[in-house]
Amino acid sequence: MYDVQVVRKDFPILERQVHGRPLVYLDSAATSQKPQAVIDALADYYSRYNANVHRGIHTLAEEATAAYEDARRRVADFIGAASPRSVVFTRNTTEAINLVAYAWGRRTLRPGDEVVLTVMEHHSNLVPWQLMAQDTGAALRSVDITEDGCLDLEAFHKLLGPRTRLVALTHMSNVLGTVNPVVAMARAAHSYGALVLVDGAQSVPHLPVRVQELACDFLAFSGHKMLGPTGIGALYAREELLEAMEPFMGGGEMIREVQLERSTWNEVPWRFEAGTPNIADAIAWVAALDYLEALGMAPVRAHELEITAYALSRLQEVPGITIYGPRAAEDRGGVVAFNLKEVHPHDVGTALDQYGIAVRAGHHCAQPLHRRLGIGSTARASFYVYTTAQEIDALVAALHQTQEFFTRVAGRAGRPL
Ligand code: PLP
Repeated sequence: MYDVQVVRKDFPILERQVHGRPLVYLDSAATSQKPQAVIDALADYYSRYNANVHRGIHTLAEEATAAYEDARRRVADFIGAASPRSVVFTRNTTEAINLVAYAWGRRTLRPGDEVVLTVMEHHSNLVPWQLMAQDTGAALRSVDITEDGCLDLEAFHKLLGPRTRLVALTHMSNVLGTVNPVVAMARAAHSYGALVLVDGAQSVPHLPVRVQELACDFLAFSGHKMLGPTGIGALYAREELLEAMEPFMGGGEMIREVQLERSTWNEVPWRFEAGTPNIADAIAWVAALDYLEALGMAPVRAHELEITAYALSRLQEVPGITIYGPRAAEDRGGVVAFNLKEVHPHDVGTALDQYGIAVRAGHHCAQPLHRRLGIGSTARASFYVYTTAQEIDALVAALHQTQEFFTRVAGRAGRPL
């Protein structure tokens, strides 16, 4: 039985007050909060066995190396990867996607080749491909959305063809919350010989994700969105793809032998980890994985479904609200973007902060999607393992008051809002 009150006790930050009110943290899609176990793991590493990895022969270096490589194994297990050699540590999802763009795209794409993206991508899965298209002459194609905020699958199938080299798409939209049918899309892409990159920044933290079942070739995700520290993320790639890829960055660690004029490369995945890696955060990420595994990813998903369904129904009570994305909670993750009639989302965010409620306002690094929706920005509430129905109630009550306040102020000013 999932007990959210027990979960909350593990997150010291949730005891905070903001503007004299209990913190209501509804911004987990931007970054999640951290359980005490993660904070302790960081302190433990720095207080007991801080050392550089792979290089030293002293005890501390051996302990740090063992823990760092164990973290790789744990990340691989968490996503069902066959081997830890399929996991490259990166700073975050963004760096993982750039790694594919530079180490695979730059060498593989030719003029006239096509990369299929979607209109709901985060900038981190758009801009690297734009840079790559400029460098290689490849063309970008984009899948539109339907009125209910799902991908237009008919349009997707029409975009696929013999020149499609890659389909790069998000598993879950960070604005609409839409969970995309990645498995079917990957199968279709593969039938044309294209590779599939899945942006798992929002899915790996919230859904049970197994790379073998997803049938993806690349999966990018970030530790900080799944209870882990900032500054650590991962790229999963099929091992034979990594083997065929050239390095993305040069320096220490990623080489086998260096001559003055040329070098040979280390084995994968170390070939792609130039310089001293983020040892502490990789190790502390394991505490986050332990935490999520103890809860179980299926119960985590079930909790978020319940909270999202409740939020979708309660938010509709707010006068003048527009909610974006699929109507049914089952079609989405724990993200709800909305706008209040005539109140700018930044004003919504600032007003909610006065009630101790943290939401995000802006384009959420998805400008093309907002343009497609005909708006500049949205307010976004996002949920996680520690979110309660009472917090949704607090959000709805504060939104009622915000709406009322702005209506009154505009009325006194004698102008329409
Ligand atoms: N992709 C999606 C769908 C996201 O929501 C985010 C972050 O919000 C990213 C990519 C980028 O993640 P990071 O900033 O950790 O690289």
